[in-house]
Amino acid sequence: MDIIKWARIKSPWVFHFNAGGCNGCDIEVLASLIPRYDIERFGMILRGSPRHADVMLLTGTVTRQIKDRLIRIYEQMAEPKFVMAIGSCAMSGGVFQNCYSVYEGADKVIPVDVYVPGCPPRPQAIIDGAVKLLQKLAAGK
Ligand code: SF4
Repeated sequence: MDIIKWARIKSPWVFHFNAGGCNGCDIEVLASLIPRYDIERFGMILRGSPRHADVMLLTGTVTRQIKDRLIRIYEQMAEPKFVMAIGSCAMSGGVFQNCYSVYEGADKVIPVDVYVPGCPPRPQAIIDGAVKLLQKLAAGK
């Protein structure tokens, strides 16, 4: 394993983007970051700028209104970049599915690497999704 890949797996910096929804998923993302669940033990640190992040933690419904901003923020992240769609809204539109303004999943707008189901998913599920992403990276996918 080369040193860049090793460093990427050991210290993925994350950026949280809320596209919409009810904020239930955001609370769970924050819960996974605090010492009780401690996602930082995997080297994950929350950054305030997409330019400093490797992984986008995407929550909420992707609407036609937010689409352009989401794409702009995704493009600001440096390559290689990864996206975790957290919660039913980000995965499929969730309870807002079939609404005229809602995309049926963030993957209709940007590439998604890991899906974390739930409404909202518990912190354990978010951590499980993060570990699956790291396993994908370790496998070279
Ligand atoms: S998936 Fe559920 S908890 Fe999360 S933003 Fe949507 S409605 Fe709220």
